[in-house]
Amino acid sequence: MIRLFVRAPLREGSEVTLEGDPAHYLTRVMRLGEGDEAWLFNGSDGEWSARIVEVRKRACRLRAEALVRVQSPPPDLELHMALVKRAPLEMIVEKATELGVNRIRLLRTERTNADHTNLERLAAIACEAAEQCGRLDVPEIIPAARLADRLATWDADRALMFCDEAGDAPGAVAALLRRGHARWAVLVGPEGGFTPEERDSIRALPATTPVSLGSRVLRAETAVIAALSIWQSTLGEGAGLEVGAALPQLRG
Ligand code: SAH
Repeated sequence: MIRLFVRAPLREGSEVTLEGDPAHYLTRVMRLGEGDEAWLFNGSDGEWSARIVEVRKRACRLRAEALVRVQSPPPDLELHMALVKRAPLEMIVEKATELGVNRIRLLRTERTNADHTNLERLAAIACEAAEQCGRLDVPEIIPAARLADRLATWDADRALMFCDEAGDAPGAVAALLRRGHARWAVLVGPEGGFTPEERDSIRALPATTPVSLGSRVLRAETAVIAALSIWQSTLGEGAGLEVGAALPQLRG
C-alpha cells in the first residue's frame, strides 16, 4: 500500500489536497485515480486509509476514511552526526531514519567537511525513507552546531553513546547494558575522526558512554548503521524490552 507523509490533520472524513511531487507520484508514477486508496500519516494522528476523490493537473484530493494504525511514540533516540560529504550524509539520513532515530542533529567539528548542506534535500530523503519503512513519523533534521556548543549545553539526562574509534573503549553491548538509560544520543565523527582534544571533551561529559564498534576503522556511514543497529538490538525495540525498562544488571 502506498504511504504518504502529509502536513495536515487526519481524522475521519478530513480532506487532504496534495500538489506538486506527491500528487505527481500518486497519479502519474503510481497511476492511481479517483476511487483508489492510499495510506496517509502526519506524525501525530496515526495512519489513515484514504480515498482519492479528485484528480487535477499536478494536484489531487484525498478523503481520510479509517484509522489503520494508532500513533505510537518512537524511542527517544537522537543521532548527533558530524558533517561528512554529501553522498554519505544523504545515506546516513536515510539509514538513520530506517533505524528509528527521532532526531538528527548535525555537528561541525575540527575535521568536518563543511561544504554546504542542503537541509531541504536531507528532509526529503528522511520523509521518503519514513514512508518506505513504515514509520508513523519523520525524524527532524537540525542544522549543524559546533561540537563544543553542543557539549556545553548537553541535556544531563540523555546518555551519549560515543562511537570512539581510538580503540580503547569497551564493547558497545556491554557498555549500553551497563547504562540502561531510556533517552539516548549516538555520536559519530567525520571522515577524519575526532581530534584528541575533542575526544577528551566528549569523554569528560558524565553522560558519555564511549563504545567500540570493533577493531576495524569503519567509514562514518558504516559506523552509524552499526551503532544504531546495536542500540536497537540492545536497548531498543529489537531487544524486546520496553524502551527504558529496568534492565537486568549484568551478571558479575
Ligand atoms: N579517524 C579515522 C576515521 C574516522 S571514522 C581514521 O583514522 O581514518 C568516522 C567515525 O566513525 C569515527 O569518528 C567514529 O565516531 C566512528 N567509528 C569508526 N570506526 C569505529 C570503531 N571501530 N569503533 C567506534 N567508532 C568508530
